[in-house]
Amino acid sequence: MKVRRKDFIKGLAIGTISLPVFIRSWIGENQAQNKMAGNFSDGRTYEWKMVTTWPPNFPILGEGCNLFAEIVEKMSAGRMKIRVYGGGELVPALESFDAVSSGGAEIGHGAGYYWAGKVPAAQFFATVPFGMNAQQMNAWILYGGGLELWEELYRDFNLIPVPGGNTGVQMGGWFNKEINSIDDFKGLKMRIPGLGGKVFEKAGGAPVLLAGGEIYTGLERGVIDATEWIGPFHDHLMGFNEIGKYYYSPGWHEPGAELEFIFNKEKFEALPTDLQAIMRAAAGYVNTHVLANFEAKNALEMSKLMEEGIEIRTFSDDILEQLRIFTGQVIEEAIADDPFAQRAYASYDSFRRKAKEYAALTEKSFHNSLQI
Ligand code: CA
Repeated sequence: MKVRRKDFIKGLAIGTISLPVFIRSWIGENQAQNKMAGNFSDGRTYEWKMVTTWPPNFPILGEGCNLFAEIVEKMSAGRMKIRVYGGGELVPALESFDAVSSGGAEIGHGAGYYWAGKVPAAQFFATVPFGMNAQQMNAWILYGGGLELWEELYRDFNLIPVPGGNTGVQMGGWFNKEINSIDDFKGLKMRIPGLGGKVFEKAGGAPVLLAGGEIYTGLERGVIDATEWIGPFHDHLMGFNEIGKYYYSPGWHEPGAELEFIFNKEKFEALPTDLQAIMRAAAGYVNTHVLANFEAKNALEMSKLMEEGIEIRTFSDDILEQLRIFTGQVIEEAIADDPFAQRAYASYDSFRRKAKEYAALTEKSFHNSLQI
């Protein structure tokens, strides 16, 4: 320890504390290269398109994209104008990845698990059941090796991924009957997408794929018996409290859905360096604001729902333990034939285990100490 401390202090004195590679490349190396090429600012005005997986101006998520466009334009003194499109306005929501990859649009905003059919490893950069929460995802991505892997994965698609917010821990969903044991999932039709849906299927449930706009009537008419969505704020906007009897905690299937900006790599790297830095800084700003907005609105809305007397339930430890076991099986199957997904998951899971041990002594211990 003494040696490390000595090295650290020596490093401080001569300014050689090493920065993560990705930060070096953002603020140092590219800048030096571009300066040499006379590319620091070219005085041109750019008009870029941003496609998203959200309905136009969708609360928090679409709004976060609008905020991005607004601050980029201000920071660049009008040299970068970005027009934000909701899902379906320019291309269908789930085709955003391809649209940005091909250059049809220069920027996208969504979540990695939307592209899991095409790029299975992408879901480890979004969320996995019983995985890391928002704080831990940010830690792994920015300082735990996650971003380097994510960039490597998207490079083949001519894309650069940048963290673009997080939902925080979601809720477990609305059910029309109480779930007292894992057997209560048997035969249950639930709108629950992704890996969570596969886990639910292993528990005997029937995951149903429904777009956001179809969920309310699906639940009302008994096409589905249960649904998850996001959290109290968006769920209340959707009116699920009017038709769902029990609101379950926690959202084991989405402990912190990480959202992403995707930039067309070729076009982004051809930009003047100051505009590149402005876009990365704006993305970092939005990354913080989206999570804060979720946390604030969800806390306030949950308080309102509780005043209205909604029935809140918590999945028992037994149920969660069973679901955790199924999750291990689902992930093993998901990565079996994909060497990159195995590498990404190995990094994810190794970091998750350490973060979990640390959180047991800090976050968990602290929350347990709260009596109100
Ligand atoms: Ca969800």
